[in-house]
Amino acid sequence: TPAISLEQISKTYRSGGENVQAVRGVDLRIEQAEFFSLLGPSGCGKTTTMRMIAGFEDPTSGTVLLHGDDVTGVPPNRRDVNMVFQSYALFPHMTVFDNVAFGLRRKGTAGDDIRRDVAQALELVELSGRERTKPGRLSGGQQQRVALARALVNRPSALLLDEPLGALDLKLRQAMQIELKRIQREVGITFVYVTHDQGEALTMSDRIAVMNGGRVEQLGTPAEIYERPATRFTAGFIGTSNLLSGTVTSRSAEQATVRVEGAGEIPAVGDAAPGSRVDLTVRPEKIALEAAEPPGDRARLRGMVAEVVYLGSATHYTVRLGDGTEMVVFRQNSADAASAAERGDTVWVSWRPEHAY
Ligand code: ADP
Ligand code: MG
Repeated sequence: TPAISLEQISKTYRSGGENVQAVRGVDLRIEQAEFFSLLGPSGCGKTTTMRMIAGFEDPTSGTVLLHGDDVTGVPPNRRDVNMVFQSYALFPHMTVFDNVAFGLRRKGTAGDDIRRDVAQALELVELSGRERTKPGRLSGGQQQRVALARALVNRPSALLLDEPLGALDLKLRQAMQIELKRIQREVGITFVYVTHDQGEALTMSDRIAVMNGGRVEQLGTPAEIYERPATRFTAGFIGTSNLLSGTVTSRSAEQATVRVEGAGEIPAVGDAAPGSRVDLTVRPEKIALEAAEPPGDRARLRGMVAEVVYLGSATHYTVRLGDGTEMVVFRQNSADAASAAERGDTVWVSWRPEHAY
């Protein structure tokens, strides 16, 4: 049984006499011990989805199951999940120890057990020795760790984290991403993680649900979502992608031929039928850029270098094709990299057929 199942859940808010459809028919199965992310732009319904899992919000329709039990309508404190927010919501007048112990005391846990469990939770987030400190004397990252310890100490079967690193600066955020992943692996509980940051989701997740306009646009592993974006939205939201519009002219079992008007015919993978209009995505780092026409079975198009941006370890090129479409090409400036192209050069861009989807 999945740790968390959402079956066709929808949420409509009444707001100032208007209906806001925040979540529209979301279906998800989240497995035990999985690191699962909800990724999407602001307003796409991530927080509302989380609040329905936690029980802070009732779905307008649909069912929430935890370990196979229907918990729709069950209050938050009777669900086996804990939520961590971006605003840590620590009690400022209490010590770190008391903040973490708060939930256990309320449940009436014995003193010895509280001391042991708090010590364990603080060790897990690497804050042993800070028991007597007040939150105000800790850095933002440390405060977030206290919030995490406070949630983990209850040993929930799932932890829900809503943009928990949003208030931290970039360096600290990246360090905490690795830290969170380590903690999740150690405690072996299900993490549901909400973020609008695609890099964060790709780094940490076992699987990602990409959300847009209250719906799940795509569900998959980070590699599946990055390599095989199912929609224009996913292709544009995750990483940088080149989008070409064309028509499938013919196909074999694995491969299709796509005519890109004004640019040429190229092979690609995907299951679209002959005659259909398609969007092709090609990731910038999969593309080679050469002065001479590439040999063999590579997909190739001819263009002109319109822009060159040198970034130290890499150079980004913008190549304008015959039909005016612009493609972005990332090239690593490794020791054996081919000679550079310059603005105005006529070039071939090419890639292996399986890299166009
Ligand atoms: P996200 O977390 O992805 O930014 P939210 O779930 O917070 O998205 O919001 C989804 C949509 O629902 C937005 O249009 C938001 O304005 C609306 N919304 C969220 N909470 C409420 C509420 N309590 N009342 C009315 N509208 C809301
Ligand atoms: Mg939100």
